[in-house]
Amino acid sequence: MRFGIDLGGTKIEIVALARDGTVRLRERRPTPPTYEATIEAIAALVAEAERETGVRGTVGVGIPGSLSPATGLVRNANTQALNGRPLDKDLAAALGREVRVTNDANCLAMSEAADGAGAGHRTVFAVIMGTGCGGGIVSSGRILDGPNGTGGEWGHTPLPWMTEAEFPGPRCWCGRLGCLETFLSGPGLAADCDGPGARDAGGIPARAAAGEEKAAAALARHADRLARALGMIVNILDPDVIVLGGGLSNMRHLYAEVPPLMARHVFGDVSRTPVVQARHGDSSGVFGAARLWDPG
Ligand SMILES: [Zn+2]
Repeated sequence: MRFGIDLGGTKIEIVALARDGTVRLRERRPTPPTYEATIEAIAALVAEAERETGVRGTVGVGIPGSLSPATGLVRNANTQALNGRPLDKDLAAALGREVRVTNDANCLAMSEAADGAGAGHRTVFAVIMGTGCGGGIVSSGRILDGPNGTGGEWGHTPLPWMTEAEFPGPRCWCGRLGCLETFLSGPGLAADCDGPGARDAGGIPARAAAGEEKAAAALARHADRLARALGMIVNILDPDVIVLGGGLSNMRHLYAEVPPLMARHVFGDVSRTPVVQARHGDSSGVFGAARLWDPG
């Protein structure tokens, strides 16, 4: 049995994935406010899941951040209680087994590569565009990562081929200017459309469809920026497929508009990388976390 846990800012979700890929159990509960209570809540969820399924399993956890290979501590998590904590070691102690922890975009890539929109492709670049913006790479069933633990960290690279109007870009929470996240995330799109302070991009496609020019123009800029950002990925990684996840991946126009816009930035005579929507939606986090123990 493989237990996957999606540890988010508001909820913790667990799934029990059997060897044949069937879901044996699924539970969610609110994320407690403190770190210690979060560890306890995860340990309790795993214990309950093992009681219900009657088998001991492997445990993988997806988080909105990553573990530093230098310190072994969580960094860059927007769930602040996790930052600076040795989450994998504390969970291992609480659960009596090794626990694998990675960021949520890597989980999306694992899940979609295994049996989602990236199934059958060797190299999958997966993007989360929602509250934030991130990326993950899975090739031949394995997460691509290296000495810095930053493989696929696309959201905090600068928007490529910036126009004069775009340069140097908005200030990002990470301290830099012009990160992709400031342009491509939901709050980034909302601010571009409705000005500083706007955070909700959910209604923009409907406004554009109803004829609001400002909304249509913001969506066009967003699609063009996404195309540039993905064109850069194609030039470096040449993935077999690009999978979009997160709330903004529900914007249907992206799948028709982005590939031809991407072609202008791909350094070659063809640009045929498919851009597709994630199949598992919000469930990719738990499924991918469960798959962290899959043989690559
Ligand atoms: Zn940034």
